[in-house]
Amino acid sequence: MSRFWSAVVHGLTPYVPGEQPKIDNLVKLNTNEHPYGPSPKALEAIRAATGDSLRLYPDPNADALKTVLAQRFEVQPNQVFVGNGSDEVLAHAFQALLNQERELWFPDISYSFYPVYCGLYGVAHRQIPLAEDFTIRVEDYLPRGDGSGEKAGAIIFPNPNAPTGRLLPLQAVEQIVAGNPDAVVLVDEAYVDFGGESAIALVDQYPNLLVSHTFSKSRSLAGLRVGYAIGHKDLIEGLERVKNSFNSYPLDRLALAGAVASVEDEEFFLDSCQKVIATRETLVAQLQQLGFEVLPSGANFVFARHPARDGAELAAALRARAIIVRHFKQARIDQFLRITIGTDEQCAQLVAALGEIL
Ligand code: PMP
Repeated sequence: MSRFWSAVVHGLTPYVPGEQPKIDNLVKLNTNEHPYGPSPKALEAIRAATGDSLRLYPDPNADALKTVLAQRFEVQPNQVFVGNGSDEVLAHAFQALLNQERELWFPDISYSFYPVYCGLYGVAHRQIPLAEDFTIRVEDYLPRGDGSGEKAGAIIFPNPNAPTGRLLPLQAVEQIVAGNPDAVVLVDEAYVDFGGESAIALVDQYPNLLVSHTFSKSRSLAGLRVGYAIGHKDLIEGLERVKNSFNSYPLDRLALAGAVASVEDEEFFLDSCQKVIATRETLVAQLQQLGFEVLPSGANFVFARHPARDGAELAAALRARAIIVRHFKQARIDQFLRITIGTDEQCAQLVAALGEIL
């Protein structure tokens, strides 16, 4: 790499997203997209937004989207922050933590973008191993009762966690938030709509709680890039400052139109998530019948390992049968496959292929 770039740039370990091959003839179960597509009303709104209005800049405040999200979650519009996918929302949150004195804590085995952002934005951090059963251990995130010991500067974790799918009950999330009143606690709820209970219900009680969501999973709009965070208005104001110091237009006109219409179509949203949950339950039972150990999942994917077969080999054998699942080389989870919940038909193809392979 060029000697003109700084040592920081040379030292970066960029995030490598899951493979995005041409999907013709492939069963693509590797990046947790939703199999049923977005609300037809969202597609209609995007089409309607492609006309002459694209000549004009979008609304720099994304007011229409903040308003519908605020209504849905019963908060004020100034408690809502929006961005191009929750990855961007998270990036701004990490930027806002730049140069803070105490460390940002997050689980060891979690969303692999977190350490990448820490490297990019110079955020001191600590990764805390998950418990033996792959759950987040609440006590590890609480300062000791006698006031001794270290405190986190900020905390972030996905709930359900990724890539394990394991869900932390809302009461446990609240314990972490309440136990760290001097630290921002960011709960990344990218997968919450597949059976979790959102911590947004707690934001008016805890000024240190920030919750992020995405339109990429439960709303089947990964290609549109829309995410948001909800929290106390002072936390949101900090994110707005960071964003406006970087780019003053959070979302383009198509994304705004599609996202608003998606939120307005609650019935479609609830139905399509319910279908995914039902398929997940069937798939879990089928995988167990094939001898897999499957972690309990609150997400639109399952995390499973076979006691007698190597994870990387299984992923490769599926790939040879045009089925793509995600395999991580990381220690402790290198025997697992992360399998996105597809349509019933796609999951049946997966189970049939595994039946042949095993
Ligand atoms: N958080 C978690 C835990 C994720 O798995 C993902 C998707 N890879 C994201 C955030 C980001 O999703 P998006 O940028 O599409 O909103």
